[in-house]
Amino acid sequence: MAKRYELPNLPYAYGALDPYISAQIMQLHHGKHHLAYVNGANAALDKLEKARKGELQIDVKAVLRDYSFNFGGHVLHSTFWSCMAPSGKGGGTPGGVVGDKIKEDFTSFDTFKAQFSDAAKTVEGSGWAQLLYEPEIDSLVIAQAEKHNIAHLVGLPVLLCLDVWEHAYYLQYLNDRGKFVENWWNVVNWDYVEKRLRSVKK
Ligand code: MN
Repeated sequence: MAKRYELPNLPYAYGALDPYISAQIMQLHHGKHHLAYVNGANAALDKLEKARKGELQIDVKAVLRDYSFNFGGHVLHSTFWSCMAPSGKGGGTPGGVVGDKIKEDFTSFDTFKAQFSDAAKTVEGSGWAQLLYEPEIDSLVIAQAEKHNIAHLVGLPVLLCLDVWEHAYYLQYLNDRGKFVENWWNVVNWDYVEKRLRSVKK
């Protein structure tokens, strides 16, 4: 059988982001929700493989849609875990190539932060705010993805992402997504974002 997706370990303990994101949220988010996307993507691949062997009749369009959704969920969650750091070790204002590029493209860190926060707060229903690098115009760009895979900017590397599905904050923040978004800036791992940008920017 071909290779399948696996749930990556969190790069820190479930309680590491407390008090900004509780251990309970992290445990469910990683151990249940992310795992479900991994399993969903693998199940779609299994169906496609069986269909190719003539062992299963499938609705190809429906299975591919399923694959796109679950694959997006898996990739974005893997990035999301990495772009956060334990409380006290993240947040602040980035320096390095990222700090310079943000100033160049958004005029200041504060205007970037405000626009990214607005993108996160105004996602309709479930989705993500994302910071991506667009090599053709050598620019940082913000995207607002619906679910995991709609309105995504195809092919651009994600440097930073914020999950604003209700499962990401409701147990702790109830309906106050805005407060969650504000607090989340305290755990952003700018070292990771710096590494990502350096690896994709020529
Ligand atoms: Mn999520």
